[in-house]
Parts: sequence; C-alpha cells; structure tokens
Amino acid sequence: MIQIRDITKSYFMGNQTLPILKGVSLTIEDGDFVAIMGPSGSGKSTLMNILGLLDVPTTGSYLFNGKEISKQTEDELAAIRRVEIGFVFQQFNLLPRMSAEENVALPLIYSQKTTESLRPKQLLQQVGLGERIGHHTNELSGGQQQRVAIARSLVNNPKMILADEPTGNLDSVSTTEIMKTLKDLNAQGITIILVTHEEDIGAEAHRLIRMKDGIIFSDERKTPLVPQKKQPTINVDQNESKFSLAEIGSHFQQGFRTLAANKVRTALSMLGILIGVAAVVAMLALGKGAQQQIESQLSSLGSNLLVLRAGAIRIGGVAQESGATTRLSEDDAKALADNISTLKHVAPQVTGRGQITYASKNWSTQVLGTESPYAQMHASEPTKGRFFTNQESQTRARVAVIGTVLVKELFEDRNPIGEMIKINKVSFQVIGVLPEKGGGGFRNQDDTIIIPLSTAMHRLLGKLYVDSIELEVDKPENIDASQTSILAVMNQRHKVPESIQDEAFQILNLADIQAALSKTSQTMSLLLAVIAGISLVVGGIGIMNIMLVSVTERTREIGLRKAIGAKRKDILLQFLVESVVVSAIGGLSGILLGWLITVGLSAASGWSTSVSIESVMLSFFTSALIGVVFGVYPARKASLLNPIDALRFE
Ligand code: ADP
Ligand code: MG
Repeated sequence: MIQIRDITKSYFMGNQTLPILKGVSLTIEDGDFVAIMGPSGSGKSTLMNILGLLDVPTTGSYLFNGKEISKQTEDELAAIRRVEIGFVFQQFNLLPRMSAEENVALPLIYSQKTTESLRPKQLLQQVGLGERIGHHTNELSGGQQQRVAIARSLVNNPKMILADEPTGNLDSVSTTEIMKTLKDLNAQGITIILVTHEEDIGAEAHRLIRMKDGIIFSDERKTPLVPQKKQPTINVDQNESKFSLAEIGSHFQQGFRTLAANKVRTALSMLGILIGVAAVVAMLALGKGAQQQIESQLSSLGSNLLVLRAGAIRIGGVAQESGATTRLSEDDAKALADNISTLKHVAPQVTGRGQITYASKNWSTQVLGTESPYAQMHASEPTKGRFFTNQESQTRARVAVIGTVLVKELFEDRNPIGEMIKINKVSFQVIGVLPEKGGGGFRNQDDTIIIPLSTAMHRLLGKLYVDSIELEVDKPENIDASQTSILAVMNQRHKVPESIQDEAFQILNLADIQAALSKTSQTMSLLLAVIAGISLVVGGIGIMNIMLVSVTERTREIGLRKAIGAKRKDILLQFLVESVVVSAIGGLSGILLGWLITVGLSAASGWSTSVSIESVMLSFFTSALIGVVFGVYPARKASLLNPIDALRFE
C-alpha cells in the first residue's frame, strides 16, 4: 500500500537548515497494524504527516498504491485523503458548536455521499457512543472525543487509519477503549499505523518500528501478516468539481452558527452594511420623492408656457423700478393675442394677498386675478362648478374659484358652490373648486383663490397694470420664434429705445425651467446615491476585516477540513458563504431600517418619499455582492493554507 524510499524532510529556519528526517525507507502492507515509537522530537509526527499526505517530503519518493505522490496536484491529494485515509490526531481536532454526529458526518460533505445519512450514527454506535450522538463535543470526555474522531476517520470507508498518539491525552481506561477500537478495525482489514509513547501499546501492534533522530533504527515483526485479499483500488473520482446543494446548505448552516456564536462581533461587522444599505434606500426614496413632486408640480403648470414680465432696467448701473415704459397692460395681452398666430392662449395676471372670510371662518391666501384661458393653460378646469367666463371678466363680476385648501379651511368639506364669501371685505360668490394639485411646501398650489382679472385690478387690489402675462405657444418647436415675436411686439408698442431693448422685457420659458429643475433633482439623487454607495463600500471593508479575523481564528479548523479531504474550492466556498450571510442579513436589516427612516421622515417633515422595489432589490443584491467581493480575499487566504501548517497553528 505504501512504499517510501529515502525520504528526507528539513525545515528552514532563517538561513539554517534543520534536517528532521534523514533518509527513511519503509514499506507498509495492506492490513498491517504498525506502531511507530521513539523519543520525543525524533520525527514521528513529521513522518506520519508525510504518510498521511498532509505534508510533503523535501526529497525522496513516495508511492501510494503505486502512484507517485509528488506528481499529484493539491486537489488530487485532497481526494486521496478523503477516500483512502482516516487521520486521528492527538488533540482530537473536533469542531466545537457541532454535535458528535455532525462532526462524524463532516467528511461526507466533501465526498458528497449525502445518501449515507445513517452511517455517522452507526459508526458512533460501533465506537460505543450510541447514547452521545447529539451531544456537543464540549460535553464529552477526552476518551469519548477521541472515539468521535475515530468514527469521523472511518466515515468514508478508508483503507488506512493513521493515528498520531491517539491516546497521548487520555487516561488508562480510555486508552484501553481506544486500543480495542483500533484492534477491531484492524481485524476488519483496515491498515493501522499508530504513533505512541507507551511501550505496552506498542507491544500490541503486529509490527513495531523504532525511530531515533530522524532515522529508523529497528523494525521488528511480532505477529505474522495475514495476507489480504487484493482489494480493488478505489477509483478516486476527480470529477467532483461541482458543489452539491448539500455542501452549500451545510456551509450556510455552519455560517449561521459561527455568526451566532460571536453575536456582538457579527452585529458590529454588519453595522457598516446595515447603515450603508439603509442610507441607499432612504436616499433613493427621498430623491425619487423629490423628483416625483417636482414633476407633478411642473406638469400641473401646463406645457409650452411662457411668462412675460417687465424687465429690471439698469440706468447708469442702478437697477430701476420697472419704468412706466415697460409696465404691462391688459391691452398688451390683447395685442399679443391678436398679432402672433402661434400663441394658443394668453392670460394676463395680477396677484395679491387676500383675507377670506366665510361665516366665522377666516383664512389668508394668495388671490390670483386672471382671464378664462387660465383654466385650460393650467389644466385647472374646476372639478365642481365652473370657471368664470369672458363675459364675467369684462363685467368685473364678483365670482371666485377656490382651491381645495380653502374648501377644507372655510367650508369643512361641505359643498361651497353658490356660497358667498368675502375677500378683503368685498363679497364674492364661489362658482367653482379647482382640481387638487397636491404637493406641500411653501407654495401650495391648492391654497389659492382665482377671480376675474378686471375684478381683481379695479375692485380688489387697486392695480392699474398687470404683473405678468402668461402665454401658451401652440407647438414646442414654435417657442423660440414666439419669444422673438413677443419681444418685437412689446418693444414696438412701448417704443423702447434701442439701447435697452434687451432688458426691457423678460420672458421665462417654463420648459427650460422644467428641464433645469429635473436635471437638478436628478443630479441631487445621483449625488446622494454616490454618498450612500461609499458607505456601502466602507461596510464591505468592515466585513472583509471581520472575515480575516475569522480566518485567523479558525486556522486549525481549516487545517482539519483540509486533512479530511476538503479542496481549496470547498474552503473558498465556505468562507464566501459566510461573508455573504453576514452581508445579506446586514443588507436586509438595512432595507428595513431605510424604509423606517423614509416613513419617519415623510411623516415628520411632510416630504414626499417613494421607496421603490428597484432600490430595495438593488441594495440587497449590492450587499450580497459586497459579501462576495470583500469575502474573496479572506476566503482565498484561508483556502491557500497548507493543511499541516494550519493544523499546527496556535
Ligand atoms: P515527534 O517524534 O515528537 O512527533 P516531530 O516529528 O513532531 O517529533 O518533530 C521532530 C522535530 O522537528 C522536532 O525537533 C521539532 O521541533 C521539529 N519541527 C517539527 N515541525 C517543525 C516546523 N514546522 N518547523 C520547524 N521545526 C519543526
Ligand atoms: Mg509528535
């Protein structure tokens, strides 16, 4: 089974070479029971680790079932360890937080023999631990723990068991039990190689090898070798490249357990991701809400809208009150409507504050005087009642159309149509209710009252000129031409001198304002998202940090997993799953927190917010991705550890 020739092993300490094995040659037959004895430091463990494929010799040849070991890849070695060899350590090397049964079943994950779910139980019964199956390793005595370790070494039906001082940490009763177990296994045809200190244990072996200072100095056979039937060599399956669901499931379970065992640490490392995700969710919700609000307010303003105002003229560098030459009048509005064919509607406007009273109720609001086209220009056809007519405009009728805020404040949601109210002590009849535009803030569009322009100017506000003229252009492509025509008409009507024609009148283009506003709000959202994204990265670095700590802490566990046949990929996967679990749980709590913040903010401040399913999905998958990205480095670090170095790690 095993044939080694002139094996040497040296350790290099700085520039010094420490030869430990100085040319060992050995052949071990199938079915033998070999004891290796010798003083401490003579190289027994070093030899065992080489025999068990946990370590590689410096020079020499090692044939395992006729295969030269130095020509095998790391994963091929892992496969041989998994299938052919069971290793029993002096320190047991059981995993804490797992039951005896789970410890025994551990190698099955890597050999993907999930169908053999009964085998761990049977093996525990075989080593006399049938009653302790569900116990955790810290609830077992040393002898019991070692028997669990033996059961673990047997779970994949190995042909050989290597035991390095298996009874070194045990009392004499346990020692006898372990020896009996090993002898039983040998009787079933399993090759046993045992390192021991104790002469009486060595005496029970069929062959006794003594070592000293890195060489074999005696080798005696005490019991004749029972010739074994030539067992068919197990074909070590190299094609197990895919991960089974059971393995991934088991990693998830193990990941949750490790995290649960370090609750405070886990919570702290999740905090970064949690804050980051919460920030992303809340920021995106705020940004989206702001954008929606701007959009809805803008869309209620109507499209293709121009606003003409008197310009601020500077004479000698001093800003002048809009001069008489540039004051806007009702006639200007008429002239524009008559002369420019691309204008669909024209609505001159005046505004002022008004104190509205109805019965004992009192409300101060904005009064807007305009003409009937306003309703179409602003999509403000009353939902109840009607808008005033041209006729009413010309006759200075005292009729009013009111916003929903006034309905609520003055009429407490009763039907206001036909009721008489007073604006600044002048009586008006309510003839319509404006449609609700929504949106809060300092300029609530629903908190307004609209009356005919001439009524407002001459009966209420005492104004001789209009404040502005709103003009709706028929098609978007005519906007530029219309602006030029409007200025030409105005300059001509007001005989504006050439030198100040540029400044005499001012035209606001609402389409431009709309575009600028939504651009601004998009830029703001993007900026907020970037800031939130940075906090996600910081959270990811936190995860990486904690995973690195975890790798260091669990170096021995990694060594053990490799010793029982885990490949690099398996270790990589295990740590990746763990960091994804941390990130995903952090991410989920972050989504919840972000949502709560959003709801809280909009309740407290009245800001409109909107948590979108996209932003939730985005932040969840981002956090899982962060787990993968930032988990790769520690996971890779863990997977590259040499099994024996990892096992020796203190
Ligand atoms: P034992 O026969 O007691 O099992 P070992 O094989 O464990 O002896 O060790 C043999 C010698 O090799 C000891 O002197 C030990 O100090 C040395 N040794 C073992 N492992 C290392 C290592 N990783 N680096 C340097 N020296 C080592
Ligand atoms: Mg040793």
